[in-house]
Amino acid sequence: MRTWQWIGAGTAAMVIAASASFWFSPSAQDAVLRRVAARQLRAPLPPPPSTTAIRLIFCGTGSPLPDRHVAKSCLAVFAGGRFFMVDTGPESTENLLLWRLPLAQLDGVLLTHFHSDHIGELGELNLQSWLQGRQAPLTVYGPPGVEQVVAGFNLAYAQDEAVRHAHHARDRGLLPLSASTLASRAITVGAAGPLSGTDSAVMYDQDGLRITAFKVDHGVVKPAYGYRFDYRGRSVVVSGDTRSTSLITNAARGADVLVHEAQSKALVSTLAAVAKESGNRQVALLLGDTNDYHTSPAEAAALANTAGVRELVFTHFTPPSSNPLVRRAFFRDVDAVRPKHWRAAEDGLWLDVSAEAGALQTGMVGR
Ligand SMILES: [Zn+2]
Ligand SMILES: [Zn+2]
Repeated sequence: MRTWQWIGAGTAAMVIAASASFWFSPSAQDAVLRRVAARQLRAPLPPPPSTTAIRLIFCGTGSPLPDRHVAKSCLAVFAGGRFFMVDTGPESTENLLLWRLPLAQLDGVLLTHFHSDHIGELGELNLQSWLQGRQAPLTVYGPPGVEQVVAGFNLAYAQDEAVRHAHHARDRGLLPLSASTLASRAITVGAAGPLSGTDSAVMYDQDGLRITAFKVDHGVVKPAYGYRFDYRGRSVVVSGDTRSTSLITNAARGADVLVHEAQSKALVSTLAAVAKESGNRQVALLLGDTNDYHTSPAEAAALANTAGVRELVFTHFTPPSSNPLVRRAFFRDVDAVRPKHWRAAEDGLWLDVSAEAGALQTGMVGR
């Protein structure tokens, strides 16, 4: 045999021997599992460098329509040593746990509105961050009405929290019940009535981090908010769910990053037509209704141009667009409006906005 054949045969023999050892030997299984567990407990994404002003991690980029590979609305924002979550959609906590984000240090949740694809995981996020060691109630900011949402989740999880406290706390100081609940904080922005182009309110201003809530036009959902984060001269704006209006343009003026929802109205119309043809009138009507209170990718691109946004990042994809062919059709009108400086987020995308005016750093968690 030639040398490479000897090497190949030797490698194959070693793999077979290792596999047999794992299959038949409990001690070999334990040793391998210890190594795997140790690796999984390490955070896959190192902390941001000192030059980073704002870090975003997309923990859910989907919308109400199901997609097995994508969680619903969720964005983690780190700035100035603070950690906020904008919305907590179904399936998103699983991403946070898999990526070992420091949930015990979560400073608050900012709800844009109360559609279920934005609030569904409040109970799990609260429970998991408490299990990881959070020492105070988790504050949930949002439009008036947030009190009712929070009270409902607190009621639903009260029995679970009580038994976990009884099981684990004993005299070891674990899982204090005083920290187990959600606390609501309603944010009032402007007056009730017609939307005004200047409706905004600074809702958090500490140690150089300023968070501003602003009204957006999500049709019958009133009020609905977007949020702007300013820190060390850099800014990130999150649209929430909205039609394309000057409310977003005003809030996003000069922003480094605009995170904007996206609905392909053409694809949704196609889905509605197919549903109607197949006799599913209810689905056809519900789908058709949604086109009037969301923003198409091209509309968001035009808005980002007008606002002078540096980078536009699409999220909240309706319909689901993780299939490359669907994604191609989804964004087919964008390049004609904004050929550069836009991207489609996906679950696991992280993006660092530097304190200096350099390029944005991006990557995928765990890769
Ligand atoms: Zn939504
Ligand atoms: Zn919505």
